Amino acid sequence: MAPPAREKLVSGNWKMHHNHYEAIQFVQKLSAMLRASPVPPGRAVSLHPSLTSLRSVQTAVDSDGVPVALGAQTCHFEDRGAFTGEVSAGMLAKLGVRYVLAGHSERRAYAGETDEIVRAKVDAILRHEMTPILCVGETLPEREAGDATAKVVRQLEAALGGRDGSVVGRVVIAYEPIWAIGTGQVASSDDAEDMAACVRGTVRRLVGAEAARAVRVQYGGSVTADNAGEVMSCDNVDGVLVGGASLDPEAFSAIIHSGG
Ligand code: PEP
Repeated sequence: MAPPAREKLVSGNWKMHHNHYEAIQFVQKLSAMLRASPVPPGRAVSLHPSLTSLRSVQTAVDSDGVPVALGAQTCHFEDRGAFTGEVSAGMLAKLGVRYVLAGHSERRAYAGETDEIVRAKVDAILRHEMTPILCVGETLPEREAGDATAKVVRQLEAALGGRDGSVVGRVVIAYEPIWAIGTGQVASSDDAEDMAACVRGTVRRLVGAEAARAVRVQYGGSVTADNAGEVMSCDNVDGVLVGGASLDPEAFSAIIHSGG
């Protein structure tokens, strides 16, 4: 019997954009669009607002019954403690958050998140029964030096090695070449497919075939409505992580429906 098809996950990472008023307006507009044109079967959507907008987005999504899961952009790896300015995974879970980004390249670069910290965050997200979206990807010099695969494999080993296959099967992995993020320079669908296949192959080697079949691999990096359909049609790509183009409800809705 063929394994069930993996659901495609379209995630919008708002980064440090949209205050809570703007966030509510976005959800209301997206809600109207998704009523007129529902999320295609086999697709799911998550929205990752800033921390100050989480509660507003959760209330707007719940009251309108918008078919969108609440996501966060980061969390601390400890459950509580003297960590001024931080938010724990447990606090996010209590708000109804379902997906949390871990190891986005901007946090690795600007907030000093090491592979060890990213692994501890994945632990915390799983501990609170949410789904990590583990972000991995290479810089342009690493790609030009032929080191893209080695970098991604190393990040995956650090975050997922030694875990139970049934747990890893629940994780989402976002392959995001750093040179493509926010640059308008999208990876070719061949490169996206090759790297997504590498991600899946690494999961197979680390924790087994069942997890490799189940794990969802997103592509991220300058995704727009013009290129989302092509990249999501790749065999090993199970959705997209979208930054800039997720800020506009029309553009995001077009991505949700692209190629579907
Ligand atoms: C991202 O923030 O993960 C991202 C892929 O951004 P953009 O779509 O703007 O390149």
